[in-house]
Amino acid sequence: MTKCVVLADPRGFCAGVDRAILTVQTILKAAASSGKLVRDDGLPPVYVRRQIVHNKHVVEDLANQGAVFVQELGEIPDAAAAAGIPVVFSAHGVSPLVKEEAKRRGMHVVDATCPLVGKVHREVLRFVREGYEIIYIGHKGHDEAVGVVGESPEHVHLIEHADDVASLDFAPETKLVLLSQTTLSVDETAGTIAALKARFPWIEEPPSSDICYATSNRQAAVKLVAQQSDCVVIVGSANSSNSVRLMEVAQEGLGERGKAYRVDDASELKPEWFTGVEVVGISSGASVPDELVSGVIEALQSQGFTGMKSVETIKENMHFVLPAELRGKPSRA
Ligand code: SF4
Repeated sequence: MTKCVVLADPRGFCAGVDRAILTVQTILKAAASSGKLVRDDGLPPVYVRRQIVHNKHVVEDLANQGAVFVQELGEIPDAAAAAGIPVVFSAHGVSPLVKEEAKRRGMHVVDATCPLVGKVHREVLRFVREGYEIIYIGHKGHDEAVGVVGESPEHVHLIEHADDVASLDFAPETKLVLLSQTTLSVDETAGTIAALKARFPWIEEPPSSDICYATSNRQAAVKLVAQQSDCVVIVGSANSSNSVRLMEVAQEGLGERGKAYRVDDASELKPEWFTGVEVVGISSGASVPDELVSGVIEALQSQGFTGMKSVETIKENMHFVLPAELRGKPSRA
């Protein structure tokens, strides 16, 4: 039997990531065409707060083209605001405090927050206005969760797992709603929601799930791939929530039959992972360029995995327009 790879489809870039990367590329391109890629004042053509998307290759590539990445706005000199250097907010969104700081310092903000993350921010504001306490299922410290909780820290209660439900205490007359991070595991979140409903039967849910289309589509595809594979390789960075969830979903699908691994790129593959393996499943997180997947496939081909098939579960055609600030509309920051 020919050893083969099974590719999950859909995998890789989602509409929000595509838009965020294109945002920075568009600014860089405009700077290049007006001769401002290298400036006399030593300022860069664009600053980006945090990793624009959670993938180290994407970030390195944009940094090589001239973008300067910072953790906090405090690292950006006042001269940059005075010179009108754009500051891009990443796809994961920011808390109102960050927007306020940018406004106070007169920064030219281009907000690349994914519209589907923006939807959760708006839900928080709406439910708080209507007097709800919000239980938010997310990962502590993740950029997206920090931004969403920051909308109303006193009314948003973050939990990570079903086990955390016991620590919550609300009187029956409390209006409760549950929201979640966009990149969670669909199955694990269902367990957490069940635990919440058991403890607070009156809890409400938003009209549509906060787990985004890209997350659920990629998890559904990798689940099928794992069922047909002896091991699975997920391409994606360690800080990419959806890539790590894909690895967990793949591991669940494999069960005792094999292991799921996560790599940033082909250089991290270990030959011993594939001893006795006939079929390797492959997928990639929503922030991963397909070249990195191609690199992994080529490396596996050189180890004898010459067969190839693809498991397609759905065709995606989601597309988001560039941020308003790049379309000549006023910044909302
Ligand atoms: S994973 Fe979903 S929420 Fe996150 S950037 Fe992509 S489309 Fe937006």
